[in-house]
Amino acid sequence: MPDESTISEKAPISPEATFLAEVQQRSGETVSRCYQCRKCTNGCPLVFAMDVMPNQVMRMIQMGMRDELLRSTTIWLCASCQTCTARCPNDIDIAHVMDALRQMSREAGVAAEQKIVRFHEAVLDSIRRYGRMFELGMVGHYKLATLDLFGGAKIGIEMVKKGKLKFLPGGIRAKREVREMFERDQGE
Ligand code: SF4
Ligand code: SF4
Repeated sequence: MPDESTISEKAPISPEATFLAEVQQRSGETVSRCYQCRKCTNGCPLVFAMDVMPNQVMRMIQMGMRDELLRSTTIWLCASCQTCTARCPNDIDIAHVMDALRQMSREAGVAAEQKIVRFHEAVLDSIRRYGRMFELGMVGHYKLATLDLFGGAKIGIEMVKKGKLKFLPGGIRAKREVREMFERDQGE
C-alpha cells in the first residue's frame, strides 16, 4: 500500500485553481467537503496496487494538482466498486469522481494505463454497435488495438468450449435508442 509520502515526494507542483471547480462540475460531486478521514482508502480493495490513495485523490483535486492526478495509474485501476462511496461520511460519490477523472485524463491524452483505455473503448464500441456486450467481438477489438494477440488465449478457448463465448452478437429491441444515446454523448 502506498503511504502518505506519495504526494510530498513528487517534484514541485503547479497548482491549478480551476481544477477543483472543473472536477466538481463534471462529476456533480462536492469534493471540497472531503476532510481526509481516510474511510474511502481503508475500504478500497485495490489500494495495494494504486500509486495514489483514494483520499489523496480528493486532496490533490482540492490542491489543483491536475497534471499529477490525470497521469496517475490509480484512476485507471479503480474498479468502480463503490465501496469508497458507500463509506464516505460526507456523501461524496468517489467512484463517480474517478469516472470524471478518467474522462479528463483521456481527453488530455495523458492516460497512464493505455491497455485499460483500449479495453474501455472496446467495451463501449461493442455496446454502441449491438446495444449490448458481444464478448468475442469486444475481445477481437481489444486484441487488435493492443497487438496482444495471444495473451489469455488458453482461457478464451476454454470459454468457447464451455459455450460462454457466443460466435454471433445477440440482439436487443432498443438497439437504435442505445446508438442514439452514444450519438447524443458525442454531440455534447
Ligand atoms: S470505487 Fe475505486 S477507489 Fe472506490 S473502493 Fe472501489 S476500487 Fe477503490
Ligand atoms: S471517506 Fe470521504 S471524507 Fe473521508 S477521506 Fe474519503 S472522500 Fe474524504
